[in-house]
Amino acid sequence: MKIDLHMHSNCSDGELTPEALVSRAKEAGLDVIALTDHDTIEGLARARCAAMREGMTLINGIEFSTRWGKIGVHVVGLGLDTASPELLQAIAAQQQARIDRNLTIAGRLEKLGAKDVYQRATELACGAQIGRPHFAQLLVDDGLVKSVASAFKKYLGAGKVGDIKQQWPPLDEIIAIIRAAGGVAVLAHPAKYRLTRTKLRALATDFAAAGGEAIEVISGYQPSGLARDLAALANDLDLTSSCGSDFHRPGGIWQELGRFESMPVNARPIWSLWPELASAAGGE
Ligand code: AMP
Ligand code: MN
Ligand code: MN
Ligand code: MN
Repeated sequence: MKIDLHMHSNCSDGELTPEALVSRAKEAGLDVIALTDHDTIEGLARARCAAMREGMTLINGIEFSTRWGKIGVHVVGLGLDTASPELLQAIAAQQQARIDRNLTIAGRLEKLGAKDVYQRATELACGAQIGRPHFAQLLVDDGLVKSVASAFKKYLGAGKVGDIKQQWPPLDEIIAIIRAAGGVAVLAHPAKYRLTRTKLRALATDFAAAGGEAIEVISGYQPSGLARDLAALANDLDLTSSCGSDFHRPGGIWQELGRFESMPVNARPIWSLWPELASAAGGE
């Protein structure tokens, strides 16, 4: 049983359509996937249709942008009821917050010399949701930076002019919404926030206290030993462990669909919370 519980389509900042994403997941040998686009569930119905055709299991997912104090933290929601009024209302608010933020980012990048930024980002996103990766691509196209990576390093990454996160709702609010929609809240890629061990434990403790139920102990290709350490932290706090590639586009060797180590032996997998999956995954 191969399971990947974190990936993006072009309904957010991924490159593939939901259908192409599912086909690629099938080719990668995956049996269970969750589509977790940023702040939107737009792609889920199409992904579900495609997954049914391929005989795969699709778990309804989303990756919410939230705030823990001053730090931007991503929370994945899995197994959501997509008709939940609380969820739909929260997504609408996130969409508005994104538009406001994106207009601010566009204004700031124009001051740096880029032109018609919002308009061009909209076109780059093909009318779907705009994210910072679209702005990064524009800066590359305008010759202001050489690569997407350096666009983040100079202009869009943590603490830079294009990093505006105070508009995101607090972590605990989003966890409550995921739970109201019958979902499980997962602390996404904990190592990406560059926190000290003490701070990370504080984040995970707050996350658990607010009703979070899992930590993503594996996020794509990562240093050996990290998964085991994160699973130990999860166990300490009575949380389960999740895993996913955080796939965005073909060609990224660190974040390819299904390409990551197996769950560490000390982990209590998140699918232990889903009886049907747990019995199917038993023989893994
Ligand atoms: P947004 O959701 O608009 O805030 O954009 C955040 C997204 O930008 C993340 O989900 C990643 O896909 C991407 N991202 C963040 N940091 C980097 C980076 N240093 N290099 C490339 N992409 C990044
Ligand atoms: Mn992304
Ligand atoms: Mn993320
Ligand atoms: Mn992601």
